[in-house]
Amino acid sequence: MTDISISVTGKAGRITLQRPEALNAMTYEMCLAIEDALDKWATDAAVQLVVLDAEGDRAFCSGGDIAELYATGTKGDYAYGQKFWADEYRLNHKIFHYPKPVVSFLQGFTMGGGVGIGCHGSHRIVGDSSQIAMPECGIGLIPDVGGSLMLALAPGRLGEYLGTTAARMNASDAIFAGFADHYIPEAQWADLISTLEMTGDTDCLVEAATIPDPGPLQEAMADINRHFHGVSLGDVLTTLKGEDSDFARDTLKRMGRNSPLSMACTIEVLNRLRGPSLTLEKALDLEYRFTARAMEHGDFLEGIRAAIIDKDRAPKWQYADGAVPPMAVSKMLMPLGKMALKLGGTGMKIGFIGLGNMGAPMAANLAKAGHDVTGFDVAGTTAEGVVTAESVGEATKGMDIVITMLPNGDILRTVANDVIPAMKPGATLIDCSTVDVESARAVAAQADAAGLGCVDAPVSGGIGGAAGGTLTFMAGGTDAAFDAAKPLFDIMGQKAVHCGDAGAGQAAKICNNMILGATMIATCEAFALADKLGLDRQKMFDVVSTSSGYSWTMNAYCPAPGIGPHSPADNDYQPGFAAELMLKDLGLSQQAAEAVDADTPMGQRALELYRQFVEDEGGKGKDFSAMLPRFSDRGRG
Ligand code: NAD
Repeated sequence: MTDISISVTGKAGRITLQRPEALNAMTYEMCLAIEDALDKWATDAAVQLVVLDAEGDRAFCSGGDIAELYATGTKGDYAYGQKFWADEYRLNHKIFHYPKPVVSFLQGFTMGGGVGIGCHGSHRIVGDSSQIAMPECGIGLIPDVGGSLMLALAPGRLGEYLGTTAARMNASDAIFAGFADHYIPEAQWADLISTLEMTGDTDCLVEAATIPDPGPLQEAMADINRHFHGVSLGDVLTTLKGEDSDFARDTLKRMGRNSPLSMACTIEVLNRLRGPSLTLEKALDLEYRFTARAMEHGDFLEGIRAAIIDKDRAPKWQYADGAVPPMAVSKMLMPLGKMALKLGGTGMKIGFIGLGNMGAPMAANLAKAGHDVTGFDVAGTTAEGVVTAESVGEATKGMDIVITMLPNGDILRTVANDVIPAMKPGATLIDCSTVDVESARAVAAQADAAGLGCVDAPVSGGIGGAAGGTLTFMAGGTDAAFDAAKPLFDIMGQKAVHCGDAGAGQAAKICNNMILGATMIATCEAFALADKLGLDRQKMFDVVSTSSGYSWTMNAYCPAPGIGPHSPADNDYQPGFAAELMLKDLGLSQQAAEAVDADTPMGQRALELYRQFVEDEGGKGKDFSAMLPRFSDRGRG
């Protein structure tokens, strides 16, 4: 295809749009070709990042090629458009969740469909010629291709303003609105692309970026917020018409060109999206409800006729006076039922082995983020959104990534013996269990010999962190393996630290949990002492949680029932983090200390106490915070 060039140069996959004479407007074929390349590169270890750019200096991409949509729609064929949009949105979604950096260079016009491919990657570069806009209301659509997500996230009411006026953003305003990341003068772009291809590393972008002066939209924010805070198009038009100012006149003029039905639906979509459950998936689903109906019930065909067919620029919009009935908005945005947008996976097929207290919620979070997750556990446990496999092999074969979350190093080694030979070359094995450093290194060496990436990535944060996607990952392995795993860490956790080579993650984990075990014992024995001194537990918590004795075990995982945030103590000490797992971790710390001749008396004492608790005092199967009733029942003897 001559409209697009797709190649791998050095460490970068490069996609260059090559229709400068048509402002690089994206055809259906270009959309499918981009998706195909991204799918191939997602698991190709030779491709470390993707560069998206375009020929010519007038436009990165001025939008989707709408002529074909008009031709089919006017013949009453709405299915072509629906398929076009669904496939385009799937590509936008894929770019957003892509497991490797996607760097886009956005010169000149980046509009509509151009935003969909250019503004969902990880590094969006703008320069002096950049002009970014969502002009869909001008042709009877609503801001789509995931643009409504960015509009809903933009500061104040800028989203409503940009969506209904189709105003263009310069580089500075695009960064302010969340459509771009870095301003870099365009004269430097060619050299930067060469550096990206040579190094596969995006650090050069951050180094080259400078901060541009504030753009005109930033300066207009007070006006924008004042006029666009209403919940409907009617509210916005009323305040604008009630004010005699340049801003109000200019804004009304811009909105006067656009479809009232589209503008009313745009405002409604942004209202519905704002809030805690805002995701790209939700944004695309709402957008598609409109676009799937736009030819038959919206102003789309009339908008295209006036803009590019007859070019009379005099569209006959529905509700031309701006009074759009709420029912008309609801009809355009009703759920589509069986026709609803199906985004499918994001290109990542993940096997998850060990769906216990931690593994099940971690796997569920990956599935919720749109990945295709297949899970296996010998105990037959499952997780929400995860396909259950009957064997380790079924959860391993053909997967891009396999994650293990198992009780200990011996089990990990046994499972790895089955998993590694069944994985496809270039795939990555991520072990999130807490195991000994030696097992981690042995599994990494075995994976390396089989041509696989491998990361030991134990976690901290407990079952609450696993369920909430706020774990901390401490990772060991090569840069390439860590980069492959990082997008998944970002879903399952809030932080991932690349600690060093294979085994370094486990070393960090062992040290962390030695502190945790000793601190839990200290917290429990202090509560038991406080009880015997007649000190109320709540008062003890109120003081210590904000004094120098505070700790994670006191503040976030309090071992006293009914005190502090909800913890296993409130659930009769059901784990949580089982005492025997803490015993295991303390054993690992002392095994490691022995190997390197480190003096760890507190860790050693914590190990002895947990061993006694688990082996002789009925602690097995209880949470590790059940040390508190143990101390309460004892005296000094
Ligand atoms: P868990 O016992 O609840 O889960 C382990 C799962 O592995 C079980 O469901 C078990 O059936 C499964 N399993 C065992 N052998 C298997 C095999 N051969 N094939 C497939 N599945 C197998 O333990 P968890 O609390 O989820 O902890 C898992 C790992 O995470 C441990 O290494 C633990 O030390 C670590 N960890 C736990 C916590 C916590 O708070 N629970 C916190 C941080 C780290």
